[in-house]
Amino acid sequence: MQVPLLDLKAQYATIREEILQAISDVCESQYFALGPAVTEFEDKIAKYIGSKYAIGVSSGTDALLVSLMAADIKPGDEVITTAFSFFATAGSIFRLGAKPVFVDIERDSYNIDPSCIEEKITEKTRAIIPVHLYGQTAKMKEISKIAKCHKLEIIEDAAQAIGASSNGVSCGNFGNYGCFSFYPTKNLGAFGDGGLVTTNVESIAEKLKSLRDHGQKPRYYYNMIGGNFRLDSIQAAVLLVKLKYLDKWNEKRRQNAAIYDKLFAGSVVQTPKIGKGNICTYHQYTIAVPQRDDLNKFLTGNKVGSAIFYPKPLHLQKCFSELGYSQGDLPVTEKICDEVLSLPIYPELSAEQIEFAAQTVLKFYNNN
Ligand SMILES: *Cc1c(COP(=O)(O)O)cnc(C)c1O
Repeated sequence: MQVPLLDLKAQYATIREEILQAISDVCESQYFALGPAVTEFEDKIAKYIGSKYAIGVSSGTDALLVSLMAADIKPGDEVITTAFSFFATAGSIFRLGAKPVFVDIERDSYNIDPSCIEEKITEKTRAIIPVHLYGQTAKMKEISKIAKCHKLEIIEDAAQAIGASSNGVSCGNFGNYGCFSFYPTKNLGAFGDGGLVTTNVESIAEKLKSLRDHGQKPRYYYNMIGGNFRLDSIQAAVLLVKLKYLDKWNEKRRQNAAIYDKLFAGSVVQTPKIGKGNICTYHQYTIAVPQRDDLNKFLTGNKVGSAIFYPKPLHLQKCFSELGYSQGDLPVTEKICDEVLSLPIYPELSAEQIEFAAQTVLKFYNNN
């Protein structure tokens, strides 16, 4: 049996006709940049997320960048975030000349540890970017309290968390900016790059809309400098089709996770721990294990897909060496980077495939 880490063809097969029709409609309209499909998508996804406004942008990375720009993050400003995330979280801060300030994570959730934030706040701190890693909401109640107390902007990196919530509040509504990615492998994936920023503040929505189109408002009049962060019509059309199925797909991911949880119970495998009140989207099903690299090789040899998100923490990346971090600065983050392994979790997996993947993991530990 083969169990790929992800099989986008399996999902495409279930919605092929609808998608091709939607793309064809855009081709007939010859409206490719923003346009009616993007507006319709923004309306529907704002309702889905429960935000007043949703602004389609060119990628998750650009969602973060344009949010930081809208929040007036300037050279020399400090932005608190996690070092256990995809590169874009910190890269977008650095690109604006601001300084990412890395805080350690919680052992259980892999998300930013609220109890480590306050000691990193200085007069230069302007914002916090919590990441809802693997689809689980960060501890937003605690983070919001700190942000409020120190007048910091919250920019959520919800790239892995579309449809996730905590105590009934959907990710993307905890701060003034919620950033999402529609990279093809995300839970809601486009046929190319795409992203979104959500907000509940009208003036911020207007600013984001202007900034995604070079800062113009009205057309050809510029009061601020933005960029080309526009979402394509074709991507919006594809996403409109897929959005209808997102809840079903996320539910299937949770069911798959429950099967793994059961099979790994009582073993050496540390399964994901979901906090009380959290609904997780399981963008990844990530275990923590001893001998992780050997297990990874064993799984590959047995045709079970697996991947390490992420092998090297951001604070130790070469490009950030000028920030002055060294090994030992974020002990939990560094330890976790050596232990995590993500297993196949996509909705179209069969129960047999999940069982095979889990049994192969357990076999490795029984043999070693
Ligand atoms: C995917 C991802 C991004 C970037 O999104 P792109 O659409 O690929 O630019 C940012 N942050 C996290 C946590 C992600 O997983």
